[in-house]
Amino acid sequence: MKIICAENMGFCFGVKRAVDMALKQENAFVLGQLIHNPQVVELLEKRGIKEIKSVDDIEKGILIITAHGTTKSNIIKAKSKKLDIIDTTCPLVKKVQNLVKEFNNKGYDLILFGDKGHSEVKGIVSNAENIIVVSTKEDTKNIFVKKACLLSQTTQSIKKFNEISKVLKSNVNELKIINTICDATKKRQDSAMNTAKKCDLMVVIGGYNSANTKRLREICSKITETKQIETAKEIKKEWFKGKSLVGITAGASTPDFVIKEIKKKIESF
Ligand code: SF4
Repeated sequence: MKIICAENMGFCFGVKRAVDMALKQENAFVLGQLIHNPQVVELLEKRGIKEIKSVDDIEKGILIITAHGTTKSNIIKAKSKKLDIIDTTCPLVKKVQNLVKEFNNKGYDLILFGDKGHSEVKGIVSNAENIIVVSTKEDTKNIFVKKACLLSQTTQSIKKFNEISKVLKSNVNELKIINTICDATKKRQDSAMNTAKKCDLMVVIGGYNSANTKRLREICSKITETKQIETAKEIKKEWFKGKSLVGITAGASTPDFVIKEIKKKIESF
């Protein structure tokens, strides 16, 4: 059995930046999960960096905002409590937040392709007044507006974004399309797809609540048999029976040491 790794996988620059910034702190609070990876969360806990669900949960101290960003109201609340804010929002997410503000001010209705409950989406939405979130092609069918701007959550699928753009083009008189899917996501998706085409089994490594890992799993499973795991402990030897070429890919929040550990375990079979 041979093992190949996707050309682009694992930590993206935004997540790496956020983890580096957070690891410089001690005894701080993170609003939500800094990174959808249980091993890194453990590392942060050792430094006294704890996850909180809401700004209401603390009255003082250091508050870390994750790479996905947060809502405007959370920032206002944190400032009013005089918390020390360490904002690790990825510059590419910030860019989408700024774009929705800009196009709202220019009189456009905004349409955001994204997962409605995701923190990145909530943060982007909080920066605009007229914004509709669509997750599927079906969601767009009843949108009839004169002038709109379509953007995307950074970790969405390009294929689906293009499908949605196509439907909207026929419903909106003046449609401005800005592809805000980040390059790291695109590269990981393309590499995962190319690797899956060659393999009879794909192992996708990443947190179960990581949106971009979920997307990689969806892409690979349409092409070949695919298993998603978070840690080496979850690997089952029987998955590899009769397989000749196994591919590995990993979400943008999966650290290198996790990938290496899993690869080593698979190699031992
Ligand atoms: S996936 Fe892209 S947008 Fe998201 S944190 Fe990484 S670099 Fe930033």
